[in-house]
Amino acid sequence: DNHFDVAIIGAGPIGLACGIEAQKRGLSHIIIEKGCLVNSLYNYPVNMTFFSSSERLEIGDTPFVTTLPKPKRAEALEYYRRIENKFDLNTHLFEEVLDVQKQDNSFFLRTTKHSYEAKHVIVATGFYDIPMLLNVPGEDLPKVSHYYHDPHFYAKQRVLVVGASNSSVDAALETYRKGAKVTMVIRGSEISPRVKYWVKPDIENRILFKEIDVYYNSSVRRILENEVELDTPDGTVRLPNDFVLALTGYQPNFSFLKRIGITIPEEAPRIPEHNPETMETNIEGLYLAGVVCGGLNTHLWFIENSRIHASIILEHIVTKES
Ligand code: FAD
Repeated sequence: DNHFDVAIIGAGPIGLACGIEAQKRGLSHIIIEKGCLVNSLYNYPVNMTFFSSSERLEIGDTPFVTTLPKPKRAEALEYYRRIENKFDLNTHLFEEVLDVQKQDNSFFLRTTKHSYEAKHVIVATGFYDIPMLLNVPGEDLPKVSHYYHDPHFYAKQRVLVVGASNSSVDAALETYRKGAKVTMVIRGSEISPRVKYWVKPDIENRILFKEIDVYYNSSVRRILENEVELDTPDGTVRLPNDFVLALTGYQPNFSFLKRIGITIPEEAPRIPEHNPETMETNIEGLYLAGVVCGGLNTHLWFIENSRIHASIILEHIVTKES
């Protein structure tokens, strides 16, 4: 059967939470995910430690037991996979939603594999698919990456890390410890105050002891095959370079949101139109859940403060139906 009460786009932690809440209320659901289960978490750096303690990542009233207070990526993958299994959610993986159109009182979803009809649609697509670009010449060279996975790859290489937030700091420290020659280029004058409190002194000391080089108030001017050129307060600096990790943040897929009819303001922070009390967008029956609702404000929403969207939305759906 291709008809569901609720279709959920994205099998991240919040998409899964929506599936559980639909099930609790006796509504049929489908979760459609373009990658693997919890695809964003899967694509995080392999050694990543969450900034949230494990109980704040819990969904479905199911304990997330870890021996250390902050879970690692591998533990989170294990947890959410067990959750999906425990609740026997109707999750379809490696199937991308291409379009959603409303006709009369139904939504028609077209994916890379099938078509579905649903009475309600929840968009829980996150913000990890589209990196913020530097927009400089050479950014398309194969040595430039906007995602960082495993430090071993960078052993004995000259690595430029762009950015000053958690992703950049983790990448700089890990690659330095696996023998990379690391230089950071930072637009502002300091390491971001939002960097995990137990990591910040580590990076500041590596910089202080000149184990990691840093250019503050600086930016990348262009990237060449074997060099990078920086704009610094002391003029242009050219450095020999093997790899660039441009970890300057990510943004929701605004063109997808627009295509399915959600109003997106042109000015930052481009918050997709929705009622924060119900999470319903400008289209009746179409909801936003999870971190996608922040637009460019990707640092305001995380699992612990957006998992609540699942019950808010499903409660709104059942009250409307009754
Ligand atoms: P996501 O987990 O991003 O899930 C969205 C899903 O939708 C993805 O699986 C994606 O593949 C899928 N998708 C997108 N478009 C489509 C489509 N068209 N069709 C089908 N599927 C689609 N938050 C915390 O609470 N604690 C932390 O410690 C933390 N650490 C983080 C570290 C990093 C490096 C990053 C980048 C983020 C971190 N966050 C953290 C934020 C975190 O990403 C989110 O809180 C969490 O992933 C949000 O869950 P979500 O379900 O809203 O979105």
